[in-house]
Amino acid sequence: MSDLITLTDRGLYCEAGDFFVDAWKPVHRSFVTHGHGDHAHIGMGEYWCSAASKDILNWRLGVQNIHTLDYGEQRRFGDVLVSLHPAGHILGSAQIRVEREGEVWVFTGDFKREPDPTCAPFEVVPCDVFICEATFAFPVYSWPAIEQEISRVLQWRELCESEGKAAILYAYSLGKAQRILAELNGKLDRPVLLHGAMERGVDVYRRANIALAPTELVMSLPGDTSFAGRLVLAPPSAQDSAWTRRFRSFEQAQASGWMQLRGNRRRRNLQRGFVISDHADWNALIETIRESGAHRVIATHGNTDALIPYLERELGVQAERLRTAYGDDEELTANAENVA
Ligand SMILES: [Zn+2]
Repeated sequence: MSDLITLTDRGLYCEAGDFFVDAWKPVHRSFVTHGHGDHAHIGMGEYWCSAASKDILNWRLGVQNIHTLDYGEQRRFGDVLVSLHPAGHILGSAQIRVEREGEVWVFTGDFKREPDPTCAPFEVVPCDVFICEATFAFPVYSWPAIEQEISRVLQWRELCESEGKAAILYAYSLGKAQRILAELNGKLDRPVLLHGAMERGVDVYRRANIALAPTELVMSLPGDTSFAGRLVLAPPSAQDSAWTRRFRSFEQAQASGWMQLRGNRRRRNLQRGFVISDHADWNALIETIRESGAHRVIATHGNTDALIPYLERELGVQAERLRTAYGDDEELTANAENVA
């Protein structure tokens, strides 16, 4: 049988069901796995996504023509049955399962296996062909427990307070920031301060009834406010910008999987790096591929130089890559936030 999902110049396409997945150019119908800028684009005739993604696509794209499926709900398109399953990446993130005559393909979109109070946990979906991301597909990437990184954030804030400094933490405004706020809930005496670009996304998560630490907008505070010891969340694009001047004395840190490599922190002129990622690390990636039971694995984005030979040698699966337009949402979309 022909491949159920193929790569086109507009995105991944399922001809048997006549729909795209995470199309990056306008098409008549696209499923969107989640709201990050490299997966959700404007200009689709019809959007299909998980129920929890709808508010996010509204916010990010300003579109209304959105159809939703609950996780696990099956819908027929042409010759295929389609369902969405939690990817554990951010609120509303979904894997898409496509079935034709008993053959099952799964596309993960971005995913992670670690606990995250802001979204439904990743579900292993058995399949024949597994299309997955490979953002951090090197053995060097091995995430510490989130609790450990959150206590490091709290210690850093205390240190900043003792030195009369603000503690500015850069984190992507969809997913990462909210996960950090959820983990900090109940652990701070004062509200976390937010850069203006963080406000909408935090509101979207609160509307979805996700408990987050109390927040306050930096811009709502009087000019003579002391920022000593205040934890501030801002998008990576705000680093070293004019916006930081109001804090006078401050330290800067970033929360990202890339912070696992010390050189990245040094190069980016950050005092601290916290290893908090929305993606699977190497072990989680391999384990998830194993658990899927797939005999064929297609990696869509990231560097697959280590992954593909490993899968062929150690798991005995057929492995290949597709060159999609998906990139690293932990960094890539920072430019879009410069304007906010
Ligand atoms: Zn993403």
